[in-house]
Amino acid sequence: MKNRFFMQSEILQVLPNTQCQRCGWETCADFAAGLLESKSSINDCLPGGERVRKALAKLLDQELVPPGPILKEEKARVAFIDETNCIGCAKCLPVCPVDSIIGTKGKTHTVVEQWCTGCKLCASACPTDCIDFESSLLTYIVISKESAALRFVEKQQRVELKNKDKEKVENFIEVKEDVKHEYLTNLSLKLDNDSPSDE
Ligand code: SF4
Ligand code: SF4
Repeated sequence: MKNRFFMQSEILQVLPNTQCQRCGWETCADFAAGLLESKSSINDCLPGGERVRKALAKLLDQELVPPGPILKEEKARVAFIDETNCIGCAKCLPVCPVDSIIGTKGKTHTVVEQWCTGCKLCASACPTDCIDFESSLLTYIVISKESAALRFVEKQQRVELKNKDKEKVENFIEVKEDVKHEYLTNLSLKLDNDSPSDE
């Protein structure tokens, strides 16, 4: 029987790691924990679509049940800031789970495409509605798994450091080192055999 930490890590490797919160959980890790406690459903990961739903069913040895609303894997889309309308309020910065927006208060902000997961959390925070989404040439897996999971952990750590919560920082560092190593090792193995089209 695999332990809980290992199972949660395996689930995270299946999830897109966009941290988009559309499953109703604050983070992908929370959603993974919810699955292990039967508090969330394999149908709830919208960016992952049918591919992730099937992978989760296999991993958790669950029967595939109809998903309800059609689940289609979303194409990679990244945020784009219309700089002519950006007022530099910086409201988009704290909501970005992977720190992919760059800018200082009073100056135009911009999105680093390589880091953006397309989670859309920034769009609702922007008072001038100047954030839009466009197709990306980058592959879905590269954006969401390899980069997002690690950048998310880094952001959590940075925020906690800023808040000077030492206990949480130590926990994050511990988790980061464990998860990062295992995550990257397993992910690179998976990426060799995985592709968005193998549904
Ligand atoms: S820039 Fe916006 S869409 Fe992209 S990851 Fe950050 S919050 Fe999500
Ligand atoms: S929230 Fe909108 S207006 Fe404010 S800095 Fe971000 S992109 Fe610019």
